[in-house]
Formats: sequence, C-alpha cells, structure tokens
Amino acid sequence: MSKAEHLPPYIGACLPVAEVLFDQLADAVYLIDPDSSRIVWCNRKAWESLGLTREDVLDQSVLSLQMDVHGLPQWSEIAAAIRSTDCFRFIGRHRHQQGHEVAVEINTTHFELDGRSYFLSVARDITRRVAQDTNAPHREKQLWFALNEASDGLWDWEVPTGVLFFSPQLKRMLGYGPDEMAPVLETWSDNVHPDDVPVVMAVLQEHLQGKRSRYEAEYRIRNRNGHYIWVHDRGRVCEYGPDGQPVRVVGMVQDISTRKQMELQLQALASSDTLTGLANRHQGTTFLKSQSELCQRLGLPLGLAFIDIDNFKAINDVFGHLAGDRVLQQVGQAVKGAVRGSDLVCRWGGEEFIVIAPNTSAEQMSLVAEKVRLAVLHDMAGQRPPVTVSAGVASAAGRAIDLNALMASADSALYRAKDNGRNRVELAPGA
Ligand code: GH3
Ligand code: MG
Ligand code: MG
Repeated sequence: MSKAEHLPPYIGACLPVAEVLFDQLADAVYLIDPDSSRIVWCNRKAWESLGLTREDVLDQSVLSLQMDVHGLPQWSEIAAAIRSTDCFRFIGRHRHQQGHEVAVEINTTHFELDGRSYFLSVARDITRRVAQDTNAPHREKQLWFALNEASDGLWDWEVPTGVLFFSPQLKRMLGYGPDEMAPVLETWSDNVHPDDVPVVMAVLQEHLQGKRSRYEAEYRIRNRNGHYIWVHDRGRVCEYGPDGQPVRVVGMVQDISTRKQMELQLQALASSDTLTGLANRHQGTTFLKSQSELCQRLGLPLGLAFIDIDNFKAINDVFGHLAGDRVLQQVGQAVKGAVRGSDLVCRWGGEEFIVIAPNTSAEQMSLVAEKVRLAVLHDMAGQRPPVTVSAGVASAAGRAIDLNALMASADSALYRAKDNGRNRVELAPGA
C-alpha cells in the first residue's frame, strides 16, 4: 500500500488504477518530496529491484537508497539542480538489500500540484550496460589474444594516418623480431609479390569503397630472408568516420604455404609426368585436341612426331632400370630443348615421346624431328650402348583434321623408321 495520505486527496483516489499500470513498468518510479527527500509514492519495481518491500521504501529518504549521495546538504544541491532543468539526469548506484550495488540511470522531473512541489524520478537499471562498458577494453584484449592464437597473425590499420600495427605473431611468421617491421602500410605493400599486387590492392580498394563486404586475398609475401610465402589474408573495416570514410581496418593472416605447395604439386601431378617433368599423356591428349581445333579454325597445319628410343630394353638390361630412368630424363630434356616453346613435348608412355607442333607442315615437322634426333645424339654422345631415337612424322591441315588418322600415320611412320634401321626420321606417306 502506498501512503496516499501524503498526496492530495484526488491523486490518492486515482492511485489504485495508476498503481496497476505503474507496477507493470520495467523502470522504478519514485514520487519524492523535494524538501525532505522523502519518497511519498513508488511503483513495484522501485522496491522489488532492491530486494526491499514497499514499506521499506515508502516514507524513507531517497538518500537511503543511494550510495553516492549522503546527507541533506548534498540533497539540497541536487534538488536545486533538479529544479533548474526540465529533466535532470543522474547516473548513480543504488544499494541492494543483499549488499551489492545496482547501477542506475535516474531521470527526474519536477512539477507543482495543488501548491505543492514534487519530484518524479524514473530509475533504470543499467548494470549490464555499465559492465559492458567497463569490460570493453579488457574484452578487446581477450578477443585480440584469442584471435592471435587462432591465426598466424593480426593487423590493425589506421587508414587516415597509414599506421599499420602488426601483431608479434605476424612478425614472427615473416621472420621478424618484435621490434622490427615499421608500423606503416608500406612495410606490408612493398613486400607483396609484384605479380599479386594488382589483384590484392584492387580487392582492398573495393572493400574500402563498400563494393565488397570484406577484404580477402591469397597472395605471396616476402619474408625476412627474401623468400615468398603464401598467405590467406582477410580483414574488414571496423570503424568509419563521421564522413562515412573507413577509419580503421583489422584483419588476420594465415600462412598457407604448405597447402599452396601441395596444391601446386597436385596440379603438376595431374598434368605432368613425374619422372621426366614433361607433360603426361593426359595433358598431351588435351593439347592435341585444343590445337587441332585451333588449327582447323585458322586453316593451319598441325604437325605431330612420335619419337621412340631405340633398343631401350638393352639399356635397361645392361645398366639397370635406374640408369634407364636417367636416360629417359636426359632424352626428354634433349627433345624439349630441340623444339619451339609453342610446341608441346609429352611423354606418351614407356620410352616414347610425342611432339605436337601447331602451324607446322609435314616438311617442317620432319626438320623438327631431325633436330630432335640430332639433339639426342649430341646430348647422349659417349653412352654405351649408344642412345638414339627414331621418329615418325605426320601433319594434317584443312577444315576437318582427323586426330586418330594423324596419330596412326605418325605411328606407322615410326615403325618404318625402326624397320629402316633406327636412328632416323620417317615421314608418313602423303602427309
Ligand atoms: P625399339 O627401339 O626397337 O622399339 O626397341 P626397344 O627395346 O626400345 O623397345 P621395347 O618395346 O622392346 O622396350 C621398351 C622398354 O622400355 C621396355 C620397358 O621395360 C622399358 N621401359 C618402359 N618404361 C620405362 C621406364 O619408365 N623406365 C625404364 N627404366 N624403362 C622403361
Ligand atoms: Mg624403343
Ligand atoms: Mg616403344
């Protein structure tokens, strides 16, 4: 029950209804006598939120609730301040019955009724908000620590000044000590691989301009030894200025060198022959198809040579398989060195290679194959038994190149070369 006798009678008469409504409020409401500081009326939240009963609160000085305001002299100062403004805002601490404090934001208005003056205070519990505010720097530190552990490094860029902070972990990843790496943007940008700079900068700019939701890039960056490592870098603007321009960008970097190396190795495995490093049969077939289409479209001839090491079995038999492997590698290099960069040398299988030469007529292809034969002779000079190759050459032109027919022609030419004594080049008839 409220002490309605402190109030004018008609207010008292309205109170039962008003109380039902005020008791639903999430904030505490106090009606205060400005002279004595006594609480003449309050809603449910006012006493419940402090672990008190209505009787504990009513008729008590509002100062008894407060931890920061003591005594009437201080109250009269506050009362004067309340009277001097429409709404007096005060952040304070209420004392909970169990001993702890409750942070409150109190808005007090003043009004006259029936010749008497009243203060109406609405107190809102801001414990959670205050806790968040006071913990913010601490929490940022914890977050920073956790992120640092989860990544290989963090960076924090102040856009207007160009100051770029690198975490110790990031410095370590790049081989630097904690006191090295000047905290400026150039320390980073100058070390990004020149081939990757255009893409990385474009992605970053697009994010700063709001065209991308975040900055994310995989690129190479030079470490302290001058070697490039692969990193995955991502970041985001976390603060904008009043003009809407980015002020602060933070990000994290992951060293992905191992993964990149594996990716590159897998790519190489998929397209190249592990023993010789030349294109494998799969890549050769793909290249043959694409070049035949291109030559068809442009009306150019497509040259093909089958190259087979002579009596290779004997080499294996005499020197063993490992020595045979070495010969395969050397012959592969010799063949590759003898052709144009635009031609593809492929290890077709066993001790057989093919050369695919776009825009090459049969006569020109014969010359290419002859050059290959001589290169092998030259590079393998002095080997016993001697290492030589035979080659079968064919070329096709026109609107419809039949790849199977082209390969069959080159293959049969090769057999003729073998039949005719090896270490020679044979051109397919009619090619
Ligand atoms: P010819 O030139 O007259 O065709 O005789 P050749 O002995 O070269 O041909 P043949 O087909 O009789 O034998 C090829 C040999 O190549 C048999 C095989 O063991 C060997 N060979 C195939 N692949 C490899 C390889 O990867 N490494 C090694 N060392 N030998 C291989
Ligand atoms: Mg052979
Ligand atoms: Mg063979």
